[in-house]
This record gives sequence, C-alpha cells and structure tokens, in this order.
Amino acid sequence: MLFDPKPKERREDLFDRDDELNRLKAGLNYPVILLLGIRRSGKSSLVKVLMNEMKDVIWIYLDLRKYEGYTYITYKYLLSEFERALNTWPKFLRELLRGIRGVVISGSGFEVRLSWGRDRVELADLFDRLSSIGEREGRRVVIVFDESQELRKLKGFNILYPLAYAYDNLRLSFIFTGSQIGMVYRFLRLKDPNSPLFGRAMFEVRVNPFTREQSIEFLKTGFREVGISVNDGVLESVYDELGGIPGWLTYYGFNYLQFNNHEEAIKRTLEYAVQLVRQEFENFLRGREEARERYYAIMGLCKSGCRWSDVKRILEAREGYRVDDKKITELLQNLVDASFLIKEGDIYRPSDPLITKAF
Ligand code: ADP
Ligand code: MG
Repeated sequence: MLFDPKPKERREDLFDRDDELNRLKAGLNYPVILLLGIRRSGKSSLVKVLMNEMKDVIWIYLDLRKYEGYTYITYKYLLSEFERALNTWPKFLRELLRGIRGVVISGSGFEVRLSWGRDRVELADLFDRLSSIGEREGRRVVIVFDESQELRKLKGFNILYPLAYAYDNLRLSFIFTGSQIGMVYRFLRLKDPNSPLFGRAMFEVRVNPFTREQSIEFLKTGFREVGISVNDGVLESVYDELGGIPGWLTYYGFNYLQFNNHEEAIKRTLEYAVQLVRQEFENFLRGREEARERYYAIMGLCKSGCRWSDVKRILEAREGYRVDDKKITELLQNLVDASFLIKEGDIYRPSDPLITKAF
C-alpha cells in the first residue's frame, strides 16, 4: 500500500523508482555505492526493496538513524549494530563466523556476540571473513550503513582505515545512504590526501523528490488502491501545499484515509512536519550550542531565500558587532551540508518547502 508510512519493503509498494533500483543493482559491482537524497525522499525504502529482491546477496543492514540525537558514538555502539545485523543471518552462515578474534558463537541457536572490551573484534578481521564467506558461498556480501553521516560521530576509532582496506583488498560492497548529503562527503574525506579513502571512486545514486506530475500520479495511484477517487484539483493543491517529498505525500494519504477529509489531512501533515523538522534541527544543534541563536536567525532569514551578504548583515545587526566572513561561510556551509538549506547560484533556500513552516 502506497500510503503506509513505514519504509516500503516490496517493489509493488514502491512508486516510480525503477530507474533508481536498476542503478543500485548495477552499482553492486562496485565496492562503494552512495545513495543520497534529502530526508524522507525514500532511501531506506529503496534499500529495503533492493534487499528483498536480491536474494543472492548476503546483506548486513545497519540502521544508524537512531544516533541522530547523539553528540558522539563509540566503537561499542557500532559493534552492537553489526551484532544485531549478523544475528538476522540464517544459522549456517552465522556458524561461518567462528574463529574471528572477539567473536563468540553460543548456544544451539548460534547466537553471535561481538566483544568490544580488551579482546575486541577488529573490523578489518570481520571484513576479511565476510569477504571469504561471500567467495565461499558464491554470493556478494553487501554492508549497508543507513544514514551513514552518523559515522562521523565515532570517537576514538577511525572507520576509514578498515573501509579503505576492504576497498583495496576484499570482495565486499558498501552502501552508504545519507540525508545530510554534504556530511556524507565530509565523513568520507575523498578529496583529502591525508584520508585513507583519498581518491577512491564511488558509484553514486541520487534520490530526488517527486516532480509535480509524479506527485499527483503517486496520490492518484495510492487512492485508487483503496478505491477512493479524488479530483485532480485537490491533488494539485496537495502538491502546492506539501511539495514532492514522498514521505510527506505518504503521510498526507495515510491521514486522508483515517479522517476522510482533505483539509484535516493537510493540517495534520503540516503539524507533523513542523514537529519533525524542529526535532531534526535540534539534533543538528547538538554540539553546536554556542551558535544556536545564529543558526535559528539564519534559518528564519533564509526560509524564503537569502544571500551570503543578507546573512552577514542580519547577524551583525542582531549582535551589534562585526562577524568574521569566514564564520558566516562556515555557518551557511554547515546548514547546506546537513541539507537544511540548498544553494542555487547565489541563493540559499530550504531544501524542502515544509522546512519553511518550522522557522
Ligand atoms: P528516507 O530513508 O529517505 O528518509 P523512507 O524510505 O523512510 O525515506 O521514506 C519516507 C516515507 O515515504 C515512508 O513512509 C515511505 O513509505 C514513503 N516512500 C518513500 N518513497 C516512496 C516511494 N517511492 N513509493 C511509496 N512510498 C514511498
Ligand atoms: Mg531512511
């Protein structure tokens, strides 16, 4: 059902993403695939459908979204994500993990435990084994880091070294998804000569919001599925109010089915969007508290489009003294990298029309 608000898992529930799915499939021949698109564009849905369709792949899916509100994450958290994912494997595959340092396989259920203490699991060892399991089984092993920009918060451990090792030596693929597109690049540091992943090529797939036509077709199809016909004028106005982000359109449809009322569905979607965007902005501000007022001032100003010089003027007027040019650029760049703003020519504007409502 298109109006189910959970990430989709089956292709028949995924509207008009065949091109993206096919590109992802082609990408699996590369060591690293980036799947990038703003929040709620449908990345997790794409990955889950792909996982369901490609049964010949051995999947490891790590959901890092839960760490959005954290200022940092530790190696222990990362290993616990791997542990969770490995325990979804069938028994015969789990058994093949025996003998890696720090890995314990216990009980008749072959439950996998990864130790993170003194005798901790090294990711490079784990990757080595995953690669040989893949070769032995004649299947590709693919590791998905969903919302991979969260890995930037790893403290005391540089995951780029084992990733580079795997890139250069092993037969594994990694999918890095990211809603905060610039932050994914910052995490991978591909252009930094001092970075382990410097210069490595990556296969990139972008997930864009739906166009007006796609959005209207999405709504029509969703309503048709449940035997409701809604006139085109209403569907046009949904797009005008909410834009083309699949997540908001889905939530609208979900609410429409509940209340059988267009206005109510719009109202609820807008309320929900405001709450969610505010929460996400608060997460962004974690660890950036000293600039909190500035970030709010910039978002308030840029919600209908702004230039660098507008930001400079407003901040200086508010604070009553000069603000360094470099600082202005840095504040704006952080907002762009976290995908709250996008830059088109000289103009900064919200990446999603509903962000406007939250500031
Ligand atoms: P992301 O991971 O990019 O934040 P999700 O995959 O969680 O996005 O999707 C957000 C919401 O939008 C979910 O409710 C999902 O069911 C819906 N959705 C996204 N893309 C599609 C699509 N192509 N067809 C149907 N529903 C979609
Ligand atoms: Mg997601």
